[in-house]
Amino acid sequence: MQVDYEVLKVKAIDMLKERGVTLDDIAGITYEIQKEYYDDITFSVCLYHVNNVLTKREVINAVLTGLTLDILTEKGYVDEPLRSMLMNDYGLYGIDEVLAYSIVNVYGSIGLTNFGYIDKLKLGIIGEIDRIGKEPNKCNTFLDDIVGAIAASAASRIAHTK
Ligand code: MG
Repeated sequence: MQVDYEVLKVKAIDMLKERGVTLDDIAGITYEIQKEYYDDITFSVCLYHVNNVLTKREVINAVLTGLTLDILTEKGYVDEPLRSMLMNDYGLYGIDEVLAYSIVNVYGSIGLTNFGYIDKLKLGIIGEIDRIGKEPNKCNTFLDDIVGAIAASAASRIAHTK
């Protein structure tokens, strides 16, 4: 099987959009956590790095996998007991975070630190994602971690270039 990651990148970005998240939203989180460290940081630099993170095979695979699981759960295609765990974003499930680690792992320990920080403060669109995920028949269990991990990875790329 031949896999074209140029095509899959477009698919991943489309899927994020369908789940209510644009690259601008993700870059907004990156900007939020980087602006206090770098006086010269701009939103467009953050967006550039978010775009770059999304060219990585590991990142594209994590987006496609996580969002597919959210969507299948909403559609009722996931059997119990997993269905209830995902629908209720059960705190001890933890696989959503583990999948997101496959994104930040590409960028070393700074990526992991940034991810923890974003997750704790529910920065930018993450708060909105979590709020929508609590609505009936909505599941954003994987989406919040994936978005946080991409934003954290973009921040790590910025740190590595400074
Ligand atoms: Mg989650």
